[in-house]
Amino acid sequence: MTMTPGFRSPRKSAPNPSKDEPMPCCHICNTPFEAFLSFGQTPISNHFLLPQDVADEYFFELAVGFCPACSMVQLTEQPDRERMFHENYAYFSSISVRMAQHFEAFAASVRQRWLDRPDPLVVELGSNDGIMLRHFAKDGLRHLGVEPSANVAEAGRRQGVDTVCAFFDADLAEKIKAEKGQADAILAANVMCHIPYQDSVIAGFDRLLAPRGVVIFEDPYLGDIVERTSFDQIYDEHVFYFSLSSVSAMFARHGMEVVDAEPQDVHGGEMRYTIARKDARPVHPRVAELARREAALGLAEPATFARFAGNVARSGMELVAALADLKRQGKRVVGYGATSKSATVTNYCGIGPDLVEFISDTTPTKQGRLSPGTHIPVRPYTEFSAGPPDVALLFAWNHGAEIMAKEQAFRQGGGKWLVYVPKVEIL
Ligand SMILES: [Zn+2]
Repeated sequence: MTMTPGFRSPRKSAPNPSKDEPMPCCHICNTPFEAFLSFGQTPISNHFLLPQDVADEYFFELAVGFCPACSMVQLTEQPDRERMFHENYAYFSSISVRMAQHFEAFAASVRQRWLDRPDPLVVELGSNDGIMLRHFAKDGLRHLGVEPSANVAEAGRRQGVDTVCAFFDADLAEKIKAEKGQADAILAANVMCHIPYQDSVIAGFDRLLAPRGVVIFEDPYLGDIVERTSFDQIYDEHVFYFSLSSVSAMFARHGMEVVDAEPQDVHGGEMRYTIARKDARPVHPRVAELARREAALGLAEPATFARFAGNVARSGMELVAALADLKRQGKRVVGYGATSKSATVTNYCGIGPDLVEFISDTTPTKQGRLSPGTHIPVRPYTEFSAGPPDVALLFAWNHGAEIMAKEQAFRQGGGKWLVYVPKVEIL
């Protein structure tokens, strides 16, 4: 396993797991596996702290491994869910215009391609504030959102989206089926990779789905993470890093197969998988094409992940070197976007307030708090716009195009962007 370089982090020595400690077991097939990369002791990614709470901060070892049996890349351990999803947890999808357009197109493609029965039912896991289902609701199509965050579910209802506040599992699937009948399409966007108990979820799909129904979900794609060294996609909330290979194995256990796989240029590179019961739907030629691409990339080979871990270490060192260099030149550096993924970068690289003055973010609940682990102050966006820094470190790189288009005045005023995916550079 490649250990974290640690840089100047006070938690430099990642704990050496004792030889007696049992190996983690695959969440999907229960095969023991080893980590190929550890980021060391890492805080909860979305836990922005009040200054008085710094002493009690919780850390766990953020590490990923590869299951040799089913090829699933996954976290070796996850913090307790209660620590991760507290009442302040609220991510509202609709704040991004780009994402709103993306989900409108997603909904349209579902309607055109897959809803071929009269009076179809569409169910969405993690329906958030209704960003996708409202496109079904407005035309009176039967739909149900399943959203575990109460305040986010309420925002969905205000959009006219039928929403149940719950976690999806096999029991809930039975209840939905008893009330509404079989589902024609079950959708999930940026949800499946968060759920450790996939077996119960997929068993739920099996119970709820009509004979020719489809499950369509999209999540960050392992191939993009490996190719772009986008290691900050790895954080506590993402249990799984899916590939066609691992998704196929996961659904084959329940008699289902991947019938389409379409790359999506959102969130730094995602894949949209469409799944049906075996032989219920024709398999699109894209699936075989992607399988060939994954074989060429070596996404089911341990050596690929050893190489990836080396690339991650190099990328982290280059980023720290760039920040140290800017500091020597007396440049002001401010972070842009207090994202969950930034916790991985700042903690792995030991980036604190000595290198990044503050992080600008528009989310009121994060402002006035400190970033997890390295305690960079989070301040309102107005502080960025009123006193632009020399360099903005783009933590929200997955929305890079949208942000750079919005921040043209920053560039025209001489400001520069420091990015680290796919490589460290100043733009
Ligand atoms: Zn496995």
